[in-house]
Amino acid sequence: MVKAVVGANWGDEGKGKITDMMAEEADIIVRFQGGANAGHTIVNNYGKFALHTLPSGVFYDHTTSIIGNGVALNIPVLFKEIQSIIEKGVPMPKILVSDRAQIVMPYHILFDQYEEERLGGKSFGSTKSGIAPFYSDKYAKIGFQVSELFDEEVLQEKVNRVCEMKNIMLEHMYHKPLIDPAELLETLHEYKKMVEPYVCDTSLFLHNALKEGKTVLLEGQLGTLKDPDHGIYPMVTSSSTLAAYGAIGAGVAPTEIKQVVTVCKAYSSAVGAGAFVSEIFGEEADELRRRGGDGGEYGATTGRPRRMGWFDCVASKYGCRMQGTTDVAFTVLDVLGYLPEIPVCVGYEINGEVTTDFPVTHLLEKAKPVLTVLPGWNCDIRGIKNYDELPENCRKYIEFVEEQIGYPITMVSNGPGRNDIIYRESKLK
Ligand code: GDP
Repeated sequence: MVKAVVGANWGDEGKGKITDMMAEEADIIVRFQGGANAGHTIVNNYGKFALHTLPSGVFYDHTTSIIGNGVALNIPVLFKEIQSIIEKGVPMPKILVSDRAQIVMPYHILFDQYEEERLGGKSFGSTKSGIAPFYSDKYAKIGFQVSELFDEEVLQEKVNRVCEMKNIMLEHMYHKPLIDPAELLETLHEYKKMVEPYVCDTSLFLHNALKEGKTVLLEGQLGTLKDPDHGIYPMVTSSSTLAAYGAIGAGVAPTEIKQVVTVCKAYSSAVGAGAFVSEIFGEEADELRRRGGDGGEYGATTGRPRRMGWFDCVASKYGCRMQGTTDVAFTVLDVLGYLPEIPVCVGYEINGEVTTDFPVTHLLEKAKPVLTVLPGWNCDIRGIKNYDELPENCRKYIEFVEEQIGYPITMVSNGPGRNDIIYRESKLK
């Protein structure tokens, strides 16, 4: 059976930790979208890791990790990431790369930088890892599939054709150095050597594994609100962040997905530009940022300080709905233990009317948060294993959120480690 682990919000909800934890009981973990632009932070017996491309299952020796066809594959980053975990003593993981995955080209990264430069103050806050130019080319049908590295004739013809086009843009639009097709071809030969040991028809591999009764985890990147269709367009990422896309990006049938674990953080954080209704500022935000996550709320890939806010029931209800949530994993709750009172955003006031339905971007920009203040629990809840042992106000916070979002919170995460998890019965399930 297939299970998906996805985000309800803007990303950084703690999906890495939940996937790592669920991977214990899984056979195969698949990354199905996105690229090396975001990362997961994982704390385990081997140390602390920031993974950008590898699925979170690479730390177990019983799992196979797959880079699915939907991923923006940066081959040197993948290669370096494999080296770096091995250097830290992790046994060589079993990794498969889809022959249908497409490759992030060196010029995608350059175009990303040049475009941000050109846009200046109006930029989208890209991480400049080439993801938007990559997906643009994929859908413009000038992307390079991994399989094409293995056909020299196809490769040469395409390199020449694509360079011609890219060089027109580089010369006339960006006034930057041109690409030398021979040099690019050389780079692609290097990429071929790096990726060759891992390449296969991963969708066939998954099909066979499912027939044998294996458990497959689909690991999402970012969250619902960064989805290009259902998120805060245009301040979104360039590939779908939804569990539904997991079927496409991994190459499995949609009907195989039986469980969707939507990870929802107990407060909000976001990176990049875009409306963020429950955002807080100043010392209040700084304190939450310092205490947040595991060592502060700073981007795993970029180190950028994240924007902070109170829990947003409107965004999270929508975030869970679009994922098709069967279970909510409510994470990083321990961090809120310092607050005597905790505001929660329960509605948006837009043009004088209050709604609990997440609106389109131009209305979102006008939304003001409607806050309810809940009492805090004023203690450290790390180490607690049973739901009943949580302080009453903490349980009330969880139950309030569950009622507002309307999806069952069956897991509560109270620390960054694999075992910091409290399972819970929900009335909604
Ligand atoms: P992801 O991209 O969704 O995997 O999220 P990130 O890895 O960017 O952010 C999650 C951060 O919170 C990481 O530093 C995790 O180690 C940490 N984390 C995950 N769950 C918990 C939790 O329950 N409590 C605390 N304190 N930290 C957590």
